[in-house]
Amino acid sequence: MAEDEFDVLIVGGGPAGLCSSIALSRRGVRSLLVEKHAGTAPLPKALHLSSRTMEVLHGWEVDDMLRPLALPLGDHALFAGSSLADPDHVRHPIWPDNPDVSRQRSVLISQEILEPALLAAAEKIRPGELRFSTRLTDLREDDGPWEPGVVARVEGPDGTRTVRAKWVIGADGADSTVRRVAGIDFPGKDVHRSVNILFRADLRTLVSDRRSAFYHVHNDIVHTLLAVVDNEWFWRLHVVLGDGETYADYADERRQLELVRAAVGVPGLEVELHSCYPWTGSARVASRYRSGRLLLAGDAAHVNPPSGGLGMNAGIQDVHNLVWKLVAVVRGQADEGLLDTYEQERRPTAVRTVAEAVRNHEYEEAPALTERDRRRKHARRRQDGLVLGHHYTEGAFVPDGSAAPEVAEPYSDFVPVGRPGHRAPHLWVTWQGRRTSLLDVFAEDRCTLLVAGPRSDPWADVLPPATQLITVGIGAAAVPEQEAEFREIYGLSPGGAVLVRPDGIVALRMRHRPDTTGARASLADAVEAMHLSETG
Ligand SMILES: Cc1cc2nc3c(=O)[nH]c(=O)nc-3n(C[C@H](O)[C@H](O)[C@H](O)COP(=O)(O)OP(=O)(O)OC[C@H]3O[C@@H](n4cnc5c(N)ncnc54)[C@H](O)[C@@H]3O)c2cc1C
Repeated sequence: MAEDEFDVLIVGGGPAGLCSSIALSRRGVRSLLVEKHAGTAPLPKALHLSSRTMEVLHGWEVDDMLRPLALPLGDHALFAGSSLADPDHVRHPIWPDNPDVSRQRSVLISQEILEPALLAAAEKIRPGELRFSTRLTDLREDDGPWEPGVVARVEGPDGTRTVRAKWVIGADGADSTVRRVAGIDFPGKDVHRSVNILFRADLRTLVSDRRSAFYHVHNDIVHTLLAVVDNEWFWRLHVVLGDGETYADYADERRQLELVRAAVGVPGLEVELHSCYPWTGSARVASRYRSGRLLLAGDAAHVNPPSGGLGMNAGIQDVHNLVWKLVAVVRGQADEGLLDTYEQERRPTAVRTVAEAVRNHEYEEAPALTERDRRRKHARRRQDGLVLGHHYTEGAFVPDGSAAPEVAEPYSDFVPVGRPGHRAPHLWVTWQGRRTSLLDVFAEDRCTLLVAGPRSDPWADVLPPATQLITVGIGAAAVPEQEAEFREIYGLSPGGAVLVRPDGIVALRMRHRPDTTGARASLADAVEAMHLSETG
């Protein structure tokens, strides 16, 4: 391939773009990432990486380098009081861990600390290339003498260059150029206008007995959220503008100081104001995720209010869903129809995520809640139902006619199931001599057939290409234990099996051991649903 020809052009060096680069490089796919700014984003925004996102990052082997950057687990709490100094404050744990459902715990890392770490990981692995201070200015599809692809114009320190790529991932944020060029609408609404006041103040002693991730503060002067950056010196005051207020009302530094001191509850507190910037919390989902060779991911595809910390997580999971499909298409192992399942799966997920974030915002801003809504709001301190239990209703899998489990609170309540379209459930197992999660047995470049019990027949004889077979049960060669638990959670009898995609989603479930013809036919259905070629 010539110097400026790539399999994939990634536009945007935020979390979605950096993760795309990491995931593509791991699979040996040549990509170029262009980011218009000179470096990663300097301002704190996202803070929360969910347990599912940590599972994904673990699969890309970047979780270990991130954990030391995280705030202590004891900080996973919500504080409510008249100010930080309020002796009568209340404090509730949020996002509690549940090692029965995920090996990973959610972590808190401020985005301006996370992004350089992701960048370092992306720079470490080849063949992905990253160019900062480089802006995409133009993009067109080209079926010319070169093989079909896209011609992009990028402006960087060396002037304007032309780059060719087979595919483009538009990870270029809410104002996406790729989305505009693709002519894709971004319908929705603005939910709130806000200002972020960033400041430095030594609050270590004040919060030492009440450390939390988010401090909700309500008094006569402020009704606001104080979000942590490092939970010691650096803080972000998030003020939602009231009716009739304008950004100009917050431009005066004396006003900013007054708000900060009122939120902290210490008159005369020594404060160094860092910056104050307006932003709008919106609820929008792109009408399409793909136009020809252009694909959208992250905030380019969906934006939501920050309540609940869902936006960046959704973007990283877009990438996880997209990359194995893109790799299969680039390698000629799947037809392009597989890329249409990206939108089929991820767009409804975004619609739900955005709606849940809006609901979180409404609960936070409501002047008063009914008893029922108060209980619901409190239940949302756990988000396993959304994060681990969310499932696809159509896409690259074979539905088996069963119904999804019903739960009282779909946001918080989670029932692990091996139903097609769901994340394959976690189970503690011993694998290659290590105590680990069954999820660690899956491979990112192949499908995995999990068979209940020690016998691999008739599956081994009809295994599709690029598929590994793992037996789970007493006496099994691969995972010689946990048969009863595995069968119960996955809904299998001995000899039944599930086929798991490279992104950990169940593609097929055969509850009972079939004969050879039945096994071959059901696996062929799954191969077809995943648009994979018969020969690999
Ligand atoms: C106050 C706040 C708090 C938040 N808290 C959370 C949270 O706790 N958890 C959570 O999950 N999410 C949270 N979010 C949302 C999260 O910050 C975003 O969802 C996330 O940054 C989106 O990542 P992205 O990579 O898709 O887009 P971005 O981070 O917006 O990155 C897009 C990149 O593309 C670049 N770009 C744009 N156009 C071009 C071009 N033409 N050429 C080259 N480069 C270009 C931009 O410079 C930018 O760097 C929060 C957001 C805010 C504002």
